[in-house]
Amino acid sequence: MLFGIDLGGTKTEITVLSDDDHEVLFKKRVATVKNNYAATLTTISSLVDEAQKALNVTTNVFGVAIPGTVSAITHTIKNANSYWLIGKDLLHDLEKATGKKVFLENDANCFALSEAVDGAGAAYKTVWGLILGTGSGTGIVIDRKTIEGRNGLGGEWGHNPLPWMNDYEHELAKTQHCYCGKQGCIETFVSGTGFEAEYARQSGKNILGAEIARLLKSGEKEAKDTFDLYVDRLARSIACFANFIDPDVIVLGGGMSNLDALYSVLPNKVKEYIFGKEFVTPIVKAKHGDSSGGRGAAFLCQTV
Ligand SMILES: [Zn+2]
Repeated sequence: MLFGIDLGGTKTEITVLSDDDHEVLFKKRVATVKNNYAATLTTISSLVDEAQKALNVTTNVFGVAIPGTVSAITHTIKNANSYWLIGKDLLHDLEKATGKKVFLENDANCFALSEAVDGAGAAYKTVWGLILGTGSGTGIVIDRKTIEGRNGLGGEWGHNPLPWMNDYEHELAKTQHCYCGKQGCIETFVSGTGFEAEYARQSGKNILGAEIARLLKSGEKEAKDTFDLYVDRLARSIACFANFIDPDVIVLGGGMSNLDALYSVLPNKVKEYIFGKEFVTPIVKAKHGDSSGGRGAAFLCQTV
């Protein structure tokens, strides 16, 4: 059996999958105790114990999908929006607390791995998974192995500048401060938060993405203008990356991936920006939705 934990900012979830057909044997979700590192360790240990008891098995290993990554220099957590994890040696603290071997992996990488193993990217060699939610995160998987990178930065697409900015976007970038310390990051434009912010600029109304999606379907002009700008920015950002690694499939997850209109217009828009104007890469919706963190974390254990 494969044990995986999705350690999110608001919820922590355990998923246990069968070895061969990846059937979900056990799943439990609890609220994440914020700003409390000791509680994070206790929550994860308790979930693993509970799953073991329920399934009447003992595991020697489990994987954890984490927000952020592990520093190659300090071996502690960095780049996490769950700030109470930053600077902590989560790997060894969890191994000490549970007596088991632990694998940690960035949550976007886990998403990409889950989709590459048996999701929307299963038929492909190089899978690029993009989570477009509150923030943006991406992961690259080649032959079912995540590309972590020497600095833990594999797939950190969202903190590059938006490519080929126009004058309007250059002005916006001056005031759009990203939490990473830079301005004009791709994430600030193509996340769900960025989509909502653009709609607010177009319409003067602050509403949630799901409501904007409803207005888009009803044909509202401001929603359509926002959507067109969003598609163009996402296409530029995808083209820039596809010029570099040229994946075999692009899998979209997160709240923005539920905008069905994206899939018909995005590939042609990417074609306008990509080198050589040819782009045959499928852009598809994730199969496993928000289960991907725990599933991908469980698949980390397949290497042992
Ligand atoms: Zn940034």
